Amino acid sequence: MPEPANYQCPHCDATIEATPTLEAQFVTCPNCGKEVEIPAAEIELNATTELDRNRIRQLAAERRASMRTRSYCLIAAIVCAVAAIELAMMATSEIHKTGVGPLAVTEIVFTILAVAALPLFLRSAK
Ligand SMILES: [Zn+2]
Repeated sequence: MPEPANYQCPHCDATIEATPTLEAQFVTCPNCGKEVEIPAAEIELNATTELDRNRIRQLAAERRASMRTRSYCLIAAIVCAVAAIELAMMATSEIHKTGVGPLAVTEIVFTILAVAALPLFLRSAK
């Protein structure tokens, strides 16, 4: 933030202390009562604005990345949950069959997905 600075009154040469702001401002000289222009604090404020812009950009990027991760986790969790339900239904319907055909492979895949679902879901819920 800009620091208070000393300005000289062009009417009476008195010293006026003022804090420069974004825009030029007029203060009343305490000595002669006339208006004195305090120029805008360009250099300091431009630096601050540039820093703020960078910070805002960085925060926005972080928020977008976080949202994306959460979306992916939620989608993955839903897919895993559906797969787990499918596995349960298949296991129930196939329980009386003795053959270990393609179902065994599917079961392994679905089990892995089901195990992966919980941490993904918890992460997306954060
Ligand atoms: Zn003055």
